[in-house]
Parts: sequence; C-alpha cells; structure tokens
Amino acid sequence: MKEIILSEQTVGELEDIYRKLQQEYERVAGVLSFSCNGCPDNCCDSYFLHHTYAEWAYLWQGIRKLEPERQQALIVRANSYLEQCEKELAAGRRPQVMCPLNENGLCTLYEHRLLVCRTHGVPATMTRPDGQTLHFPGCFRCQEIVDTQGEQEFSTHVERTALLRRLALLENELLDNKRHLLPKVKITIAEMLVKGPPAIPRLHCEKKKDCTMEKK
Ligand code: SF4
Ligand code: SF4
Repeated sequence: MKEIILSEQTVGELEDIYRKLQQEYERVAGVLSFSCNGCPDNCCDSYFLHHTYAEWAYLWQGIRKLEPERQQALIVRANSYLEQCEKELAAGRRPQVMCPLNENGLCTLYEHRLLVCRTHGVPATMTRPDGQTLHFPGCFRCQEIVDTQGEQEFSTHVERTALLRRLALLENELLDNKRHLLPKVKITIAEMLVKGPPAIPRLHCEKKKDCTMEKK
C-alpha cells in the first residue's frame, strides 16, 4: 500500500474549489438573509458520507497538525461514533450522531473540514455526468426562509456542477488517472479517522516498474 500525499499544487487547487464554493454559499445565503446564527440544530450530527481520497488526505493534513494525544482522543471518539452508527444502521435508521471532530458545538478542524460541511445549508443543484440534475433544497431552516419569502424553489441556489467537476478531475489526477481501478471511497469522517491517512494498493504496473528498476 502507498499513502496518498497531496502536493502543494493539489492543496492549492482543492482550497480554491472550497473557496469558490464558499463564495457561492455566501452569495446565496446573503440573498436569502440566511445564517446558522441562533439555530437550535447542529448539522454536524448529520450522517454525511465523503467520496474522495483527496479530501480524506486533506483532512489528515489537519489531524497531523494536532498533538498526538489529541489525535488519539479523536480516534477514541471516532470509534464510539462508529459503534453508535452501526447500531442505528442495524435498526434500519439513518444515524444522527455528533461528528467526532465537533467539540462544544464547534468544529475542531474548521480549516480542514470537508466539502459537504462547507456546502450544507442553502439550496443547490448539481448535474451528474449522465445528465441527471440533482436538487438539494437546503436545511429545514433555509427551506422555511424560502417558503416565507415566497421565492420560487431553486431560483436562488448554488450551482455546484463546475466545481464538483474540478474536484473529480483533481481526484483523477491525484490517482494517476486510475481512479476506476481503485476501491471507491464512501465513508464518514469517523471512518477516515479510524482508518488513518488514505493509502491505496500499488497497481501491478507500478510494481513491475519497481522490479525493473531494482534489476538495473
Ligand atoms: S445549516 Fe441549517 S439546520 Fe444546520 S445549523 Fe445551519 S441553520 Fe441550522
Ligand atoms: S468536520 Fe467539522 S464541520 Fe464537518 S461535520 Fe465534523 S465537526 Fe462538523
């Protein structure tokens, strides 16, 4: 197995995608006069799944900046999170368990939080490569605002397609254009913590290259 390490350039590109999504989020939130201030809910207990090695590696860049004891404490919390989720899933319920990175209502790795954490809240759309457009209505509070303002649903929304395409491209480049040969990522942040930094199997062609080099 080999660990996935992000180059400076990849981090720059990923952060630019995050920045642009954030700007769009703020634009839409501004139009709708929406914010999380005073919300009785905390979306960090939503059962979010994440889909890229790039974000997994980026999260670990943040985790590694913490003291080893804090890292260990997060992993203990992540294990407990996974146990609770397992029970909920076994009972046929969608888990609602606080993210192990949330402490006293705040994200301990705010700078390294993932795309879903940055985009949840306001209405958004995204068109998949097969042409199907998905609509996300936003959180319950934002939906209430849209209703009371008499806005047409999705007349003000974040269009995620172009930015998610950039993320898919970045992921593919990070994996040497062999994304289709590698195990799919569909995991929670807790699983990212427990599994450790992302690592992928060495592909046959790479092993062969190494053997050839060793013989020389
Ligand atoms: S995204 Fe919506 S539901 Fe979640 S904390 Fe913000 S206002 Fe509340
Ligand atoms: S990573 Fe941070 S923002 Fe995202 S769910 Fe966890 S605590 Fe919340």
